[in-house]
Amino acid sequence: MFSGILTLAMSAELLKAQNDIAEISRNAYGISDYKVVTWDVSSRGDVNGDLDEFKTIVEDIYNDPRGWIRAGVKFEYVESGGQLHVVLASPTDVEAFSPSGCSAEWSCTVRPYVIINDDRWMGATVSYQEAGESLLNYRRMVVNHETGHWLGHDHITTCTDYENWAPIMMQQSIDLRGCKANPWPTESELWTSTI
Ligand SMILES: [Zn+2]
Repeated sequence: MFSGILTLAMSAELLKAQNDIAEISRNAYGISDYKVVTWDVSSRGDVNGDLDEFKTIVEDIYNDPRGWIRAGVKFEYVESGGQLHVVLASPTDVEAFSPSGCSAEWSCTVRPYVIINDDRWMGATVSYQEAGESLLNYRRMVVNHETGHWLGHDHITTCTDYENWAPIMMQQSIDLRGCKANPWPTESELWTSTI
């Protein structure tokens, strides 16, 4: 009666309620050891996004069994002093992190910071709107993309996995390049080099 997918989804819900989402991924993906990354949240400049909501959504993304947890990364939230600082920043504050590498238009990663552009957080981009994707899926994509940089990934420009789903390291904010919008890392992207 129940499909395997449904059973897995139900199990994930239960385990998440028990704050044990890592366990199901370990079982599902055969990961024997996790690398723990502690992370905290802050804002820079005058932002429209609600910081508490931002923190809750990022936490859901990091705990999601479709995310970087599949590469053996376990994200643990801390009030301050994390290895990874996730920042919700005004456009000019994004640029201030690295005037030569960060633009006021997009989000950016300058280790130890993952910097999410408040304009994109609140309004996604034309590429995602035209693809009919929800704001939540855009937020998942941009957090996973920037966190991918933090974990050591560079950009990918073609889609070859999962029936043309875009790799998470494609710049989906700018152009989907004929690929399907995808907010999660694909199978071939499940590695890290910085932790
Ligand atoms: Zn990027």
